[in-house]
Amino acid sequence: MTNWIDTHCHLDARELGVDADDVVARAAAAGVMHCVIPAVAVSNFQTVRLLAEQFDYSYALGIHPLCVPQAQDADLIALDAELSLRQADPRLVAVGEIGLDFFVPELMVPAMRERQETFYREQLKLAHKHGLPVILHVRRSADRLLKHLRDIRPIGGWTGIAHAFNGSQQQAKEFIKLGFKLGFGGAVTYETALQLRRLATGLPLTALVMETDSPDIPPHWLYTTAAQRALGQAQGRNEPAELPRIAQQVASLRGVTVQALAAATTANALQALPKLRELALC
Ligand SMILES: [Zn+2]
Repeated sequence: MTNWIDTHCHLDARELGVDADDVVARAAAAGVMHCVIPAVAVSNFQTVRLLAEQFDYSYALGIHPLCVPQAQDADLIALDAELSLRQADPRLVAVGEIGLDFFVPELMVPAMRERQETFYREQLKLAHKHGLPVILHVRRSADRLLKHLRDIRPIGGWTGIAHAFNGSQQQAKEFIKLGFKLGFGGAVTYETALQLRRLATGLPLTALVMETDSPDIPPHWLYTTAAQRALGQAQGRNEPAELPRIAQQVASLRGVTVQALAAATTANALQALPKLRELALC
């Protein structure tokens, strides 16, 4: 069987948490041998860690830009303390999910843009301090993210993942140049996602990692339109077990076998998040 790593799965989300055992069993049956569970706020730090322990997965700790409006300054201190406390934990593989979101209107008002940038910069500094990679949320914010990554650059350079990447070719190149891998998931399965498909097809194979971002970003076969939902058809739930089918589409876009894509993206994930190696995934 072909083995995959889902580099971004919110297993603690309400939609998945209700039957996490089944979600994980289906993932394993589909060949998804490992999931990285990023945190979004101080309030779920413990949950992501316990889930990672329970299922032999890994986790990241950070404050998500969408959670910045509710976050307190003290949360950055709490993150620093937790990163120190868990320093020797092989399952703690990154600081994340952190970043900037310039799509959601409430986050676009000047005061909130500034607050997001403060949280992003401070968390980059913490990643630097604790010697960890970063998992980045990029939404209409690639250039600002890149600017701060250049400002706060560890001596050996960055490692990490720009997750659910959907920027330009040029921005992709800049992230790669800084040491990042780019995460691709369900969005690439939509035939209308031309730019994203061009990226998934044309970027060097060494730059790609696979992810589901489940329960978000359902692939097209799970997506229901607003009209279908109005008629009572539920939105399909994305979960890690969907990863091989999503990856199949990336493999066919690139004209490579799924085995080749699995081998390359697994190696890339281990490079982006080096502590995964300690978990004996390879
Ligand atoms: Zn996420």
